[in-house]
Amino acid sequence: MKAVAVASDGKPEVIEVAEPGPPGPGEVVVAVELAGICGTDLHVLRGDFGAAPPGTILGHEFVGCIVAVGSGVTRLLAGDRVVNSDYTACGHCRWCRRAGHWHCDERRFFGTGELFGPAQAGAQAERVLVPNAETTLSLLDPRCPPEAAILLSDNLATAWSAVERARLEPGEVVAVIGGGPVGLLSAHCALAVGAGSVVVVEPNPARRSVAASQGAVATDPDNARATVDGLTGGDGADVVIEAVGLIATLDSAVDLVRRGGRVASVGVPSAGTWTVPVAKAFSDELTLSFVVGNPISTNDRLQRMVIGGALDPTFVIDGRTTLAEAPTAYEAAMAQRHLKVVLEVGR
Ligand SMILES: [Zn+2]
Ligand SMILES: [Zn+2]
Repeated sequence: MKAVAVASDGKPEVIEVAEPGPPGPGEVVVAVELAGICGTDLHVLRGDFGAAPPGTILGHEFVGCIVAVGSGVTRLLAGDRVVNSDYTACGHCRWCRRAGHWHCDERRFFGTGELFGPAQAGAQAERVLVPNAETTLSLLDPRCPPEAAILLSDNLATAWSAVERARLEPGEVVAVIGGGPVGLLSAHCALAVGAGSVVVVEPNPARRSVAASQGAVATDPDNARATVDGLTGGDGADVVIEAVGLIATLDSAVDLVRRGGRVASVGVPSAGTWTVPVAKAFSDELTLSFVVGNPISTNDRLQRMVIGGALDPTFVIDGRTTLAEAPTAYEAAMAQRHLKVVLEVGR
């Protein structure tokens, strides 16, 4: 089968590899229909968290159809259409039982080498093997469009988890730092649950336009403080969602939040340490949280919100191409000429 893998020069290439399977206990094989290209894939290729070895099949976001089922899998059948969580979890350990699937000892993150657990081949391929399938996969409701569903595997789930962790209340002012897919979807979720206003802080004017078209107030970083002050009488934002992962944007988050406010960071930091202004954090009673999305526990609710019309995350998808054209799509994504590209596998 064809798959997109890390080449020896660290770039993505389309290779021919053996199909996975047959599935072992608890596993299924999925024929991929859609596979997303994500900022995390770009991090992997740039080696931001350490290098993934050549031959690593990329991709951790997919929608597809089950074609083979291993022993012990009873809730999924061949022919079922499913959407994944970008990482696997066992579903029954003490972490999984408290919806902390990310902390599961059996976690594997698709398509990222060994950066977040034992290696698990990615989904930018014609077929993908899924361990712990009954937990890792969710059935796709036929009323949920596949292009919306694929965002439930990571980007929308991450955005939703940030809004939830920040305990956003209706009418509050939210600042989102970063206008990539997760930042824009965080703004979308915040507006969907009744935020008073949402400011998206983003240097790229094309991304600011997308934010504005979705009902957010878009600003470049230099004017972020003035924009938030203008909306809050100088108090600062009730909630700041940091969706970049740099020291400068974490600093900016603490700068923009009001006294007693909440910062939720979903940007993936590659720096080892960050100097927290503890005197301010203490006297202002700030809540700082770091959030990894949970596509397993949020999938059912988010599918219902898409079907009901409260969320339509597909506005972030601005590129559709074939598996064979993936290297070109990666180039465009690296240069920020696309927000989000989806590979139509098998087209
Ligand atoms: Zn992703
Ligand atoms: Zn577990």
